[in-house]
Parts: sequence; C-alpha cells; structure tokens
Amino acid sequence: MREGSLDAPVRHPLNWNDPDFYDWDKIHEEMERVFDICHGCRRCFNLCDSFPRLFDLIDEAPSMELDTVDKADYKHVVDACTLCDMCFMVSCPYVPPHEFDVDFPHLMLRYRAAEIYHGKKEGLAGELSKTDRNGKLGTAIPGLANWASDTKNSLTRPVMESLAGIDRNAALPKYASKTFEAKARDEAPAINPEAPAHGRKAVLYATCFANYNATSIGMSAHRVLAHNGVATEVVYPQCCGMPQMEQGEIGKVAEGAKAIAAELLPWVDEGNDVIALTPSCALMMKFEWPLILPDDENIARLARATYDITEYVVDIAGKEGLAEGLGPLDGNVALHIACHARAQNMGNKAREMLKLVPEAEIKQLPRCSGHGGSWGVKKGNFETALKVGKPVARDVYKNAPTYVASECPLAGMHILQGMERIDAQTSEDERKPVPDIFYHPIELFAQAYGLKPQSA
Ligand code: SF4
Ligand code: SF4
Repeated sequence: MREGSLDAPVRHPLNWNDPDFYDWDKIHEEMERVFDICHGCRRCFNLCDSFPRLFDLIDEAPSMELDTVDKADYKHVVDACTLCDMCFMVSCPYVPPHEFDVDFPHLMLRYRAAEIYHGKKEGLAGELSKTDRNGKLGTAIPGLANWASDTKNSLTRPVMESLAGIDRNAALPKYASKTFEAKARDEAPAINPEAPAHGRKAVLYATCFANYNATSIGMSAHRVLAHNGVATEVVYPQCCGMPQMEQGEIGKVAEGAKAIAAELLPWVDEGNDVIALTPSCALMMKFEWPLILPDDENIARLARATYDITEYVVDIAGKEGLAEGLGPLDGNVALHIACHARAQNMGNKAREMLKLVPEAEIKQLPRCSGHGGSWGVKKGNFETALKVGKPVARDVYKNAPTYVASECPLAGMHILQGMERIDAQTSEDERKPVPDIFYHPIELFAQAYGLKPQSA
C-alpha cells in the first residue's frame, strides 16, 4: 500500500507509440496542468531539485503564477529529475486513481522522450548508458579502465570532463577482472539438501552492475540461495534498460525488454523464479516494462515471476523458513532505503531481511541519496546530487556505523562521496571514520552466514 494514502497508486501505460505523446503543445499543456497542482500543494519541496526549481520559477515570475513562466524554462525542472519515483510513490496524494491524475516522473520522462524524438543528440549521458558495451570493455582491461576512471587521476578525468561531460570528482564504478556470469560458472556453490526451501529453483538475472562491477553482490546471492537449497542459474542477456529510460529512449528500452523476456521465459516455463539483484532492474521488469509494452503477455508473465533479491530471501523465510547458520554481524548497519526499492511497493524488504540476522542493529535512512543513475555523475548535476544527498550522508557520518548498506550500488557510492565531502569540512577533533566500501544487504547477509565472497 502506498505511503500516505489508502489507495494503491495506479500507473497508466506510457502511450509512446502515439504521435501525440511527442507533441510539444500537448506536453506543455499537460505540464502546465500538473505544475499548477504542484504549485498549490508544494508538498515535494525538499525531495529533489526539480520541485525547488519549479517553485522558484513560479515565485520569480511577474504574476507569481505559472501563466507568466516561460515554457522554455520547464526544461530546467525536467533536467533536475532523476526519475527516482519518490514523489509518485511516497508524497503525492493526487496520483491516479485520484481525479487530478498526477504522475510527475512519467511527465518528465515524456518530455525527455520528446527531446529524443525531435532530434536531440544522445550526447555523453548516452555513452554512459551503454553499460553492456562499457562493461565488456572494462572487464577486458580492468587495470587500465579503473586507472583512467579514478577520481585521483588528474590526467584522464579532466579530459573525460571536457569531452564527455562527466564531472571529474564523481566516483565511477570500478570494473571487475571477471564477470559475475564467469565467476558463477567457475565457483558454483553446492546446493544444501537439508534446507527447508530445497526444491526451489531460480534464475539470477545478473544485472549490469553485479555482472561487470560489484560481482560480490551476485556471488553473495548465489551462495545464500544455494545454502538455502535454491538451485540457481546465472543469466544475463543484457542490461534492463534503466540507463536508456533515464535518457527518454523508450523505444530502446522496449526492444531490450522483449529480448530479455525471450531469454528468461523458457526458464520461467521450467518452474524457475526470476531474481533481480538490484532494485532499479527489478522495478523495470516488474513495473516499467509492463507500462511500456502493456499488450505483451510475455512481459506480463515475466513481471509476475520476478523478485527483488531481498524480497526473495524474505519470501523463503516466511514460507519454508531459512537454513540454519546465521550469526550476528560484528557491528551495526546504516541501511539506505533505495528509491527504486520503495517504488516497487513491496514494503521494506532489505530491512526485513537484515532483521533476520541475530542481534541485528539497523538504522534506516529513508531519504534519497541524490544520485539518480548516470544523471548524478554529469558535470552540472554532480554538485546538485551531493546537495540532495547531504541529509543522508550527514546522518551516516554523524553515527559512524560499522557498515553502510544500500540495495542501490550507485546510491551507496554516492553516500560515501557525500561523507568524504563532509569529513573534509569537519574540524580535526570532530572527525569520524569514513568507510571506503559500502555493502549491498545481501552481502551482509552472506557475511552473517559465513559465506562472504571476495570483493569484486
Ligand atoms: S521522480 Fe524523484 S527526482 Fe523526479 S521529480 Fe519526483 S522526486 Fe524529484
Ligand atoms: S507531485 Fe503531488 S505531492 Fe508533489 S508537489 Fe506535486 S501535487 Fe504535491
């Protein structure tokens, strides 16, 4: 159930095949309608930078109403949106089925899709969104790729900033020397025949980040599930398309969704569940793809078979019970609740899962990290992303937990960068330790089982 309302939100299919979807007059008309509702409400003033930009535009307009805001300035509001979905899922009382019918994030997405439709070039953000191409290259030459992308590299990062628009201070994911798919093949864990859930089978949809970057997320999931009797296969046809979605490339997302469904559905037909390792990918598979391809029964079937990894472990715990062997962690956990986990409308599964660890001490961080995928590393956005994420980073820094965890790897990296920034501004006698790594909750769960793999 949605926070703050008795009704579950309803999302309309994205009408991206209709030419009206890209009609600027119609888009501006709908923006004016929605923005006017937001102007009268202002509940989302501190969620991100989009709403402050909108309210500033209105407050500084001659009439202090939308009628005197230049429509060309609407773009500033769109450009600040990370598509985190928090306004839709958490704040807004006017989402459908309410008659006001407000879906702010999908309106931002429609604007971006129209920019692409009318010929906007992909630019650098488009290069960043090619996660499979980048991942294949990065894992082939990880030493060189990680050297070049290091924020301390004063040779390459200024060049990347001027040529590609990536802020020189934004941390970028490191590449593994071996993909999760390859590691899973070489180090397949034994299935525990004594586990109560023995007999379940699932495919782990590797997701680009776990496949090319943080393979320990995948290996942790693989081991935890095997210990719980679940036979898993690791499958990775291609990226889920969230990075393309951020750019407004809805057609490309649709193509990818069909290809992934074609590869995963035979596994579903054989009785496998499908498990996504990061919440953005699960959100795409469960919610966004069915809105992009509402008449595609394959997409609908895949959505019904898909779980987030934390959701799946909690499901096992609730139905069959977990295998024995969980011990306490050697410290407390600051757990960031990823926006795209909240947007799945499934409850706080990461917290529920970690609460299964004996003596678990968890402090939740419900606010947005500010990162927003490839949005947050772009020059012009990075400082805003740090500003939006400052409350979370400050909270973690102040409490100095043993572990910083987030289901969203990019959010985790961004929180650590925010902590470093706060640390640099803190007087010597008040400084706290800043961890150099963050954890996906499944990695901590594997650790509590004594199954922790080597980091990626
Ligand atoms: S989706 Fe997120 S970033 Fe976009 S307007 Fe809503 S709260 Fe702000
Ligand atoms: S998105 Fe909804 S809750 Fe947020 S400011 Fe607009 S009308 Fe208010």
